[in-house]
Amino acid sequence: MVTLAALTDHDLPHEERAHAFLAQARLRNEAPALAPVLAARGVGPYRGYNEVLGEIEHLVAQGYRAHPIGRSVEGEPIIALHLGQEPRGTLARATVILSGVHPMEWIGVETNLRVLQRLAETDLRDRAVIAIPLVNPDGFRRVDKSLRAGRRRFIRHNARGVDLNRNFDSRWGRLGLVQRLLGNLFHPGSAPASEPEVESIAHHLSVCRVDRALSLHSFGGAVLYPLASSTRPVHDVMEHRAWATRMARACDPRKPYKAASCARWAKGITAGGLELDWFHERHGAVSFLIECSRGGRSLRPSRLFDPFAWFNPPRPDREADAIANAVTPFVRGDLP
Ligand SMILES: [Zn+2]
Repeated sequence: MVTLAALTDHDLPHEERAHAFLAQARLRNEAPALAPVLAARGVGPYRGYNEVLGEIEHLVAQGYRAHPIGRSVEGEPIIALHLGQEPRGTLARATVILSGVHPMEWIGVETNLRVLQRLAETDLRDRAVIAIPLVNPDGFRRVDKSLRAGRRRFIRHNARGVDLNRNFDSRWGRLGLVQRLLGNLFHPGSAPASEPEVESIAHHLSVCRVDRALSLHSFGGAVLYPLASSTRPVHDVMEHRAWATRMARACDPRKPYKAASCARWAKGITAGGLELDWFHERHGAVSFLIECSRGGRSLRPSRLFDPFAWFNPPRPDREADAIANAVTPFVRGDLP
């Protein structure tokens, strides 16, 4: 039995610490499985917070190393999963995969977990993979609770009302007129990386050689590359374009996703503080933000007025599979 005191004891073997904090988080958030409830409602079999933690435990059993890299505003662990070479303080090149930055975008989380299952069976050679499936656990839990209660709420922020994808330290606080008019919707926080979720990621990656990054959002059906803060092309736009085009086709061969720079895709509406630009600017990484799927909007009243259904397609397995196939070559370090 691992006691609470031992959780903060850095002498405890790493594996035991990982097991302990995962088990603790699951215990604290014990709840019946959400996927069958949502499936019965026609929303799709999306897994709730406790089930996602269970899947992370499963990935650890398959060889992933789990690191609690920090805590959210409400004290939930921010978990980084490592596979392949050790990325911290070494020369190993690393691919980072984020999801759950925006709490309603559960298809991104499912896709991340699917990619990780695939990679567990792959030889990563000299590469490291670092995945953070739930960047915003407090937001994810809030969506979980609201789905269980049958409420139809739109949730975008962390527990302090900050849009984590405006909080990264890259042209932070630069919001165009439209976003300023929408006020709190895109609240960037009080300073760059002011939020513990973003700060833990920046700190954890500060000693890693990140050369590829992927952040999984939803639901625009697009593979976006830097910049988000300007329509000016980046110096390595050709490499970005080559990968974006390839992944956009593979995500949906019948109707390829859009491949574009974020600012151009957003029709010239620019913003600072995005992870997309931060990975490129701070780490020199080839960086993508994928708007997974085209959501689940439909004229059925049950979906039409349900924000969760806008962001998440009704068949997550099929979509997550296709996107995982499309991004795996990039993640494991293949040439474009
Ligand atoms: Zn998003």
